[in-house]
Amino acid sequence: MPDVAALCHICGMPSKHTCKMCGRPACDMHYDPASGLCSSCKGRGRTMKRQV
Ligand SMILES: [Zn+2]
Ligand SMILES: [Zn+2]
Repeated sequence: MPDVAALCHICGMPSKHTCKMCGRPACDMHYDPASGLCSSCKGRGRTMKRQV
């Protein structure tokens, strides 16, 4: 695979993160390393699991 930066599905910025839930790329701004979710998925569920 060529080293092409995926684009954040929210803002379109180059991203190196991938959301665990939806599998779509997310940039630093729209990715939460603590949960591994993009802000889209993170904001979708009201029931947020607390990090241990
Ligand atoms: Zn973004
Ligand atoms: Zn997501």
